[in-house]
Amino acid sequence: MQTLTKEKVNEEALKALEVAEEAREKEWVYPSFVAELFQGRLRWDLILPFPEQSEEDRRIGDEFLAKVEKFLKANIDPDEVDRTGEIPPHAIKGLAELGCFALKIPKEYGGMGFSQVNYNRILQLVGGYCASTGVWLSAHQSIGVPQPLILFGTEEQKRKYLPRFRKGDISAFALTEPDVGSDPAKMKTTAAPIEGGSYYLLNGEKLWCTNGPVANVMVVMAQTPPKVVKGKEKKQITAFIVEKTMPGVEVVHRCQFMGLHGIQNGLLRFKNVKVPRENILWKEGYGLKLALVTLNTGRLTMPAGVTGGAKWCLSIVRQWANEREQWGGPIGKHEAVATKIAAMAATTYAMESMHLVTAAMADSKKTDIRLEAAMAKLFCTEASWRIIDGTIQIRGGRGYETAASLKARGEKPWGVERLMRDARINTIIEGTSQIMRLFIAREALDSHVQKIFPILDPKKPLFTRLVLALKAAGYYATWYPSQWIHGNGVPKGASIPAALKPHMNYVDQTAHRLARELFLAMAIHQQGLEKRQQLLTRIVNIGTALFAMAITCSRTLSLLSKNPSDSSAMELADLFCRQSKGRIERQFHSLFKNDDRFAYRVAQETLKGKYRWLEKGIIEPL
Ligand SMILES: Cc1cc2nc3c(=O)[nH]c(=O)nc-3n(C[C@H](O)[C@H](O)[C@H](O)COP(=O)(O)OP(=O)(O)OC[C@H]3O[C@@H](n4cnc5c(N)ncnc54)[C@H](O)[C@@H]3O)c2cc1C
Repeated sequence: MQTLTKEKVNEEALKALEVAEEAREKEWVYPSFVAELFQGRLRWDLILPFPEQSEEDRRIGDEFLAKVEKFLKANIDPDEVDRTGEIPPHAIKGLAELGCFALKIPKEYGGMGFSQVNYNRILQLVGGYCASTGVWLSAHQSIGVPQPLILFGTEEQKRKYLPRFRKGDISAFALTEPDVGSDPAKMKTTAAPIEGGSYYLLNGEKLWCTNGPVANVMVVMAQTPPKVVKGKEKKQITAFIVEKTMPGVEVVHRCQFMGLHGIQNGLLRFKNVKVPRENILWKEGYGLKLALVTLNTGRLTMPAGVTGGAKWCLSIVRQWANEREQWGGPIGKHEAVATKIAAMAATTYAMESMHLVTAAMADSKKTDIRLEAAMAKLFCTEASWRIIDGTIQIRGGRGYETAASLKARGEKPWGVERLMRDARINTIIEGTSQIMRLFIAREALDSHVQKIFPILDPKKPLFTRLVLALKAAGYYATWYPSQWIHGNGVPKGASIPAALKPHMNYVDQTAHRLARELFLAMAIHQQGLEKRQQLLTRIVNIGTALFAMAITCSRTLSLLSKNPSDSSAMELADLFCRQSKGRIERQFHSLFKNDDRFAYRVAQETLKGKYRWLEKGIIEPL
């Protein structure tokens, strides 16, 4: 392996940042609840009343969900899929006939034309039943060809490809490469223009491409020749629609994983694949931006799928903790178990609220959802992991036993261990939790970055910097003091039950406190803040928890308004908010007083091998 000098590392890090920054969506056309929250402005008007599905849309969703449920039960056995590593071909065909591969495709292109909320509800149902099947559908239409095509395709491209998905064509999204994971700047796949630019020759490899082995068509990101902008060479990444039938497309290997045994995921090779220019999606050089924007909405499905899994766990835990008796009573009566169950119920309620609200926001097209979707993905995937872990613990030894083994002994075949294996990938794909936090932090800081960083830029003329500094000083002279003045948290004119009032007040006050701390962090670390990942992590954790609390309260108000005598949602919201407050306060506590620097040093010494003696006494993995 090439040894990297410190200078080379810095240079590569800078290049990676430049490419990522270039691909960032910089405009904020619509307001964002979360972006405003980080600025200490609580826009309750964006989430109150809770954005609901219309009755008509709900009815359409209900009818389709009933069909899908019937079909799944009759045609797919999730444990059999796990055992054999295959979803039966007749089941895939049947799902395609139902329209499951064209759920969000507008009717004018032959699709089902479902709203994002209905799409999420379907993925919640499918993902909660069989995660592998959920991944087939989601990789195909949340990130595969339909989504970027709907967003960025030309009319001609839409007419050519979209109707094919209603007839059963399957698609994939190919970004990752063996050396390119979270950081796409190092992408090696190339697309070189030939024949005067009418065609491109695609060469390279794409790793872990979900649906890749079975896809008829895929969106592939590749490097096209760099452009010189203002005397500086700029890397160009471009997205292409690639057909499996194009000569030179090869599936090299079908990858196997700890879970999701039924997915088709592979290493793909492109060798001199001749792709026509008209297959470029959006524009040359816009491929990475396309991938990121696609993921903004594409990410909404994963929270739905994992919420399905959480609901399944809740159902198992409810049944099992009632029926299993140990030490003189049902295990659900023992406080240590009961506390887990309560947290599971409250968290599942928050997860569902979060994915439904972000989906509804996406449908309304009145708010920017890039931060909300990233938070929903981050929050729901991490919460789902804790819920699955808790379910295994409550099931005891049975939680660790396979469904087939349980069934053979005459017990209920609840394969929670399969769910755990299937779910582990969710905090890694479509943006790892770490990358999600950095992405949210970057956007949370954006308004300060725009105001402060140009002042610190030594390349700018002194006079320009002075003018900018005066402008910023004027802004912060009013903004900062305003962060000490709290509203009463409760939106004017709203009737809020006593149990929720303190939580909504807390969200309001804590958003101000978070905005102040964020500003302080920025003032202390300036450009170095980007490297203080643990500090940023805590800031994002607080912001995410506040968003979850606000959404949960909003949904509860909506449910209460429909059925005032049912306090069940309020109890769940109350508990979720109480527990969130504890987590938030712990994050604040260690915001600036922590062991981060010491821990970092220990990590570096570990990497250098200082503590290798600790690894003795095992057979070393080589
Ligand atoms: C089952 C499965 C399905 C997939 N499907 C697809 C698909 O359909 N299409 C596709 O293109 N890709 C797909 N992927 C790839 C997936 O998106 C990547 O695995 C993911 O982006 C992470 O990349 P990586 O695995 O290379 O990890 P790396 O990027 O190598 O990261 C390794 C670790 O380092 C952390 N890390 C990296 N950079 C930073 C940083 N700057 N700061 C802090 N921490 C950091 C990461 O969070 C992670 O914990 C799939 C992968 C799997 C396993």
